[in-house]
Amino acid sequence: MINGTMYIDGKWTGSSCGATRRIENPFDGSEVANVAEGGREDAREAIAAARRAFDSGGWPQTPAVERGRLLARLADLVERERENLARLETLDTGKTLEESRWDMDDVAGIFRYYAGMADKDAGEIIASPNPGTSSRVVREPVGVCGQISPWNYPLLQASWKMAPALAAGCTLIMKPSEITPLTTLKITELAEEAGYPPGVVNTVLGPGPEVGAELAESADVDLISFTGGVATGKTIMRAAAGNVKRVALELGGKNPNIVFADADFDVAVDHALNAVFFHAGQICSAGTRLMVQDALHDRFVEALAARMKRIKVGNGLDAATEMGPLISADHRAKVERYIAIARREGATLALGGGRPEDPALANGHFVMPTLFTDCDSHMRIVREEVFGPVITVERFVTEKEAVARANDTTYGLSAGFWTRDPDRMARVSAALRFGTVWVNDFNVYFVQAPWGGYRQSGLGRELGRQGLEEYTELKHIYHNHAAKAINWFGSK
Ligand code: NAD
Repeated sequence: MINGTMYIDGKWTGSSCGATRRIENPFDGSEVANVAEGGREDAREAIAAARRAFDSGGWPQTPAVERGRLLARLADLVERERENLARLETLDTGKTLEESRWDMDDVAGIFRYYAGMADKDAGEIIASPNPGTSSRVVREPVGVCGQISPWNYPLLQASWKMAPALAAGCTLIMKPSEITPLTTLKITELAEEAGYPPGVVNTVLGPGPEVGAELAESADVDLISFTGGVATGKTIMRAAAGNVKRVALELGGKNPNIVFADADFDVAVDHALNAVFFHAGQICSAGTRLMVQDALHDRFVEALAARMKRIKVGNGLDAATEMGPLISADHRAKVERYIAIARREGATLALGGGRPEDPALANGHFVMPTLFTDCDSHMRIVREEVFGPVITVERFVTEKEAVARANDTTYGLSAGFWTRDPDRMARVSAALRFGTVWVNDFNVYFVQAPWGGYRQSGLGRELGRQGLEEYTELKHIYHNHAAKAINWFGSK
């Protein structure tokens, strides 16, 4: 069993009120850790520490080369701890160990990418219209950053925020989801080992409406970066208005996966599964909204159902498992409510919809892979984010209709489509209004490419060069090399 405390100003500390929280394995409800449960007071202390570390100037003025070196060391430490981190992530989230290992490889890659990027931007000389002057534009760290992450990819989402912030020279306060703090605590330990000065990296634990809200509201925080649900994102935006802090939001998605009749059938069926069932569908980019062209529809659904029946559900630590449980009893209840709504709305339950029969899984928060057919674009099951192992299938006839229906959503995170026609590839990828569009693939992302959403899927971008720019302010420095009086006022 792990005992976790918070990390504020270079010191490990319990919560100011002494509260703790039991962290459970979603596979069987067993206790995997007991961690400090902080509150607003702890968040304020962490903000003050990050403020001091930034305002004292030491850290933001650390040469970019040194900031890069520290990030590279952190990448090495993540690689050293890959297996421990992956096991912790699986114990905390229920996802398969193999998925957790991919996550840790991505995490190391993110630190390495931003390590390389830290010293690449030396600013830009721009043309000044005035003789004897020069102008340059430089990027400076935005300041103290609050970073709030969700439970589905705890360390991956935290590293999307932590790595570019540190590359830019910001100080930060991480706030992991209260139900999945373990790998964020471990990366904090690794940051301490890497040698970050006190106050640069701080980690506070506790409930969102207290600890997270304090970060979003505080006038001493310069930027709030949040990944989570849309409703929480809107609350954070409102809270951030108090001091007009910078806001970066990565929110939910309802992501269409469109299969045209000329697609490579077997590959598209295979990826329709990959689009949804990783981490039991608890992925912001899950392609749960499947749209299949009329001519292919029935054959496609049949092949999909046949593969879905064979998905092995179980303990994420068991190598044979392909899909683990949902994160919590509350979340399973939400997914089950959506399944009931879909049936009431007239969708046909073609497969699944219930819990596993195996008594060995009775204490886990499982929902079996579920397939709904005869869906239409107005159903809530098609429009709202379910965040579970549930695919809805819509039938369409023309390309125009498919694109119009796919775009008719309040979300705009990602979309994919399958075709062999090069003209259609160009047309449809231009017409889909989503932050990421996959042509003949799904759920692919990497640190070099920006990630983020159109519409209510978010604000700003993480990853890539743009992910680093989020953590900077632009400053124009104008230098007059031959200043002389112009005698405009009071000299007539
Ligand atoms: P959530 O919004 O409930 O919580 C996310 C985080 O916000 C947690 O740390 C929580 O403690 C905190 N929080 C809750 N209320 C808060 C408040 N009032 N003020 C400040 N912080 C608060 O989301 P979740 O259930 O943890 O995560 C699932 C959601 O995250 C899904 O909607 C999913 O699509 C989204 N997500 C998006 C991306 C992306 O890249 N766009 C990635 C992963 C997850």
